[in-house]
Amino acid sequence: MATTTRTATDLRAALEAVVGPDHVRDDAGALLTYATDATPLERGRPDVVVFPGSTDEVAGVLRFANERGIPVVPRGSGTNLSAGTVPHRGGIVLVLTRMNRLKEISPGDLVAVCEPGVRTIELAQAAAAEGMLFPPDPGSHTTATIGGNVAECSGGLRALKYGVTRDYVLGVEAVLATGEVIRSGGRLVKDVAGYDLRRLLCGSEGTLAVMTELTLRLVPAPEATGTGMAYFDDLGDAARAVSRVLSDGVLPVTLEFLDRVCIDAVEGYSRIGLDRSAGALLIFGQDGDEASIDRDMRRMAEACEAEGATHVRIAETEAEAADVLQARRAVLPALSRLEPLTILEDATVPRSRIAEMVQRIQDIAERHGLTIGTFGHAGDGNLHPTIVLDPADGEALERAHAAVDEIFAEAIAMDGSITGEHGVGLVKLRHLEAQLGADHLALLRRIKGAFDPNGILNPGKLGS
Ligand SMILES: Cc1cc2nc3c(=O)[nH]c(=O)nc-3n(C[C@H](O)[C@H](O)[C@H](O)COP(=O)(O)OP(=O)(O)OC[C@H]3O[C@@H](n4cnc5c(N)ncnc54)[C@H](O)[C@@H]3O)c2cc1C
Repeated sequence: MATTTRTATDLRAALEAVVGPDHVRDDAGALLTYATDATPLERGRPDVVVFPGSTDEVAGVLRFANERGIPVVPRGSGTNLSAGTVPHRGGIVLVLTRMNRLKEISPGDLVAVCEPGVRTIELAQAAAAEGMLFPPDPGSHTTATIGGNVAECSGGLRALKYGVTRDYVLGVEAVLATGEVIRSGGRLVKDVAGYDLRRLLCGSEGTLAVMTELTLRLVPAPEATGTGMAYFDDLGDAARAVSRVLSDGVLPVTLEFLDRVCIDAVEGYSRIGLDRSAGALLIFGQDGDEASIDRDMRRMAEACEAEGATHVRIAETEAEAADVLQARRAVLPALSRLEPLTILEDATVPRSRIAEMVQRIQDIAERHGLTIGTFGHAGDGNLHPTIVLDPADGEALERAHAAVDEIFAEAIAMDGSITGEHGVGLVKLRHLEAQLGADHLALLRRIKGAFDPNGILNPGKLGS
């Protein structure tokens, strides 16, 4: 490992020579802004914040940092929920948002080519203008960047039918920690030349390389979308309805659920007429042509009724559909209003075990005297147990940490995962070995060493 030299003037001068003086910041405001991300309670302190404008500049920054052994934390919009961009070992926060050129939308090849700092919504809108769909749609899509989406392998509401970000990454240009630029994949649907590094980089959380260009797969936009909702007295009935929908041969675009705590919080927050006495709410949707939407929406409504739904409604107008979807979109802000601190988790279990997992979460909440609302993607088993509490109550915080540990242990015991879409980052690192095992973790570390021999890229996160 190279020796670390980190005086402020030394750093500034060297980095200004690479990206220009306007794109290096070490003022108090910048150091404070880039000390945190969207993860509650986690903070670091960068030595300097750098905003490169090109692949060459990224390579220049990395070569310099690698020679000096300075940590580099790649960053998009900082909306991740696993402290993946918290600079807990100081060093350089490398913000990619200046690299925001949407270079191409190609209806012929069904691809988009862009720099990592393009926001998800910008790409989706540009694709829609050409009659195409970029399906990954994390709830943070108005703010998050494509680089962040790929580095986290983000999911979203459409993952059941369309898959996650990984399924749309055709090609990646990336800069290694040592400054070399590699390209993996491109605009080809079929390409098996070499190891599939673009897949490896997808979900690598800034620990292997800095991505500087992405080639993404688009699909033809569906003609229309249908949306509906079903109330259940009991979450077990809702979970059985999910199984029945899927085994009836319908692959919905949306299949989301809210538990009792979430329904109550959303209605208190947005007053959209939800039934606060219900035990669970299932939101279902389909896209495609009008005929198949009608058929699938009817079949999903029937499956819900067959499993004991107390009330089923299919939206007849766009405004009604917007209301239904608002129930799901409002969950996080609604829960956040209950207490000053919101801890949002994303444990995942096989979808056949959702009801069992939610019951375990409720038991854990009761045992620890905590409020935990659980909502999530019922179709793919990705649950978001969300703890709300007052952090001034240090003892409650300790109970919350214990509850999170137990939730992860339950997920792992059910052949699930400690994270379906939010990443490991800093906050889940201590749970990773329990899921993967020591040999697997050791292999991750050897892979990390091959990409980043001096361990400068996002050190102390994911497998490093
Ligand atoms: C309100 C809210 C809703 C959310 N909803 C969802 C959701 O529905 N689904 C979901 O999956 N996530 C969701 N998230 C989490 C988060 O928004 C996503 O992980 C998002 O993809 C992060 O994008 P970003 O630009 O903010 O990346 P950042 O947070 O800046 O970075 C995320 C990770 O990517 C790395 N990184 C960033 N850019 C690069 C690059 N160019 N090269 C290499 N590494 C890089 C960073 O080092 C870090 O490890 C939500 C977050 C919030 C706050």
